[in-house]
Amino acid sequence: MKCLVTGGSGFIGSNLVLHLINNQKYKVLNIDKLTYASNNFFLNSINNNSLYNHKKIDICETKKIFNILADFMPDVILHLAAESHVDRSIEKPGEFIKTNIIGTFSLLEASLKYYSTLKSRKKSNFLFIHVSTDEVFGSLKNLSSPSFTENSSYNPNSPYSASKASSDHLVRSWTETFNLPSIITNCSNNFGPYQLPEKLIPLVISKALNGEKIPVFGNGKQIRDWLFVLDHVKALSKLITNGKIGSTYNIGGNNELRNIDLIKKICSKLDKLIKNKPNDISKFSQLIQHVDDRPGHDFRYAINSNKIKNELGWKAEANLSEALDITIKWYLENRTWYKKNISKITKRRGLRKSK
Ligand code: NAD
Repeated sequence: MKCLVTGGSGFIGSNLVLHLINNQKYKVLNIDKLTYASNNFFLNSINNNSLYNHKKIDICETKKIFNILADFMPDVILHLAAESHVDRSIEKPGEFIKTNIIGTFSLLEASLKYYSTLKSRKKSNFLFIHVSTDEVFGSLKNLSSPSFTENSSYNPNSPYSASKASSDHLVRSWTETFNLPSIITNCSNNFGPYQLPEKLIPLVISKALNGEKIPVFGNGKQIRDWLFVLDHVKALSKLITNGKIGSTYNIGGNNELRNIDLIKKICSKLDKLIKNKPNDISKFSQLIQHVDDRPGHDFRYAINSNKIKNELGWKAEANLSEALDITIKWYLENRTWYKKNISKITKRRGLRKSK
């Protein structure tokens, strides 16, 4: 089976590409513009694999994308390319509108044109999977609010989530209006190896290891549901073969935690692993520093994954503590990688004014 993955050089995309290649049933073409968020280092191990290929291209280039589709003839398109960092969307929303909305529109145009050329089995097997976020549902009001289901209404609060919500609506309408066979997924916060240290978990690890202040937005009581990236890619690969066309699926880790508790958990894990701590501290939690809250910061996200569990038998398998251990170990073993990447991103997300 041939899979075209957009954004395959990003955090989730590269984990997905490796998972598909290791499965040996898939030929994968990764199309990625290689923005600051990409890291082909992860994919170096498969560069010479005959099942894998990469093309550097912007999804906004409809004509080029169509030519690539016509040449590669994918059975499945997995659309992950996006601008994905909320803080950046607050500072500079333009790129989010361009890639997440216009880019998705462009990809849909090219995909529909390609789909219309397909015949018989190739046509009936074709599928477009759009990977989106639980952030499109907005914020749950309190601890007792029921988790988001596939029927929850859309209430995006940041430019990032609004741009992803727009892209979800576009994909849905291309299915309803033009019969492009698609599936939309809305997943919770991912974590794991190869995530850039501008996202919370690798940010905490890298700041701690450098002996720098660990910034916590506001009071840190915001709750997120953490999904180990390998569980996520397993869910996506189940959808490739068994997902129901025209459906949306929520994918969650079933690991709800307040940001501050997660940060303290990582600090205490690092305390046990690292005897010689930087800057004369005795515990990494001494580095925690509360900073101004993110504007429009959502209080709580929680995902109800019953649909994908009941229909496809998928559920998140990772134990949060063990998956955090794997992740921390990876960052400890790959300090050169994250140090190189920190220089690409630091100016955007350092410490804000301290409280
Ligand atoms: P990421 O930022 O790590 O990677 C995005 C990739 O897309 C990068 O390799 C980048 O080069 C590429 N890209 C950006 N603009 C492009 C363009 N115009 N054309 C082609 N390629 C382009 O993102 P991620 O964390 O891997 O997320 C992947 C998808 O999953 C995104 O759609 C995101 O919205 C969604 N998602 C992520 C999370 C999470 O916790 N990381 C949670 C929910 C949903």
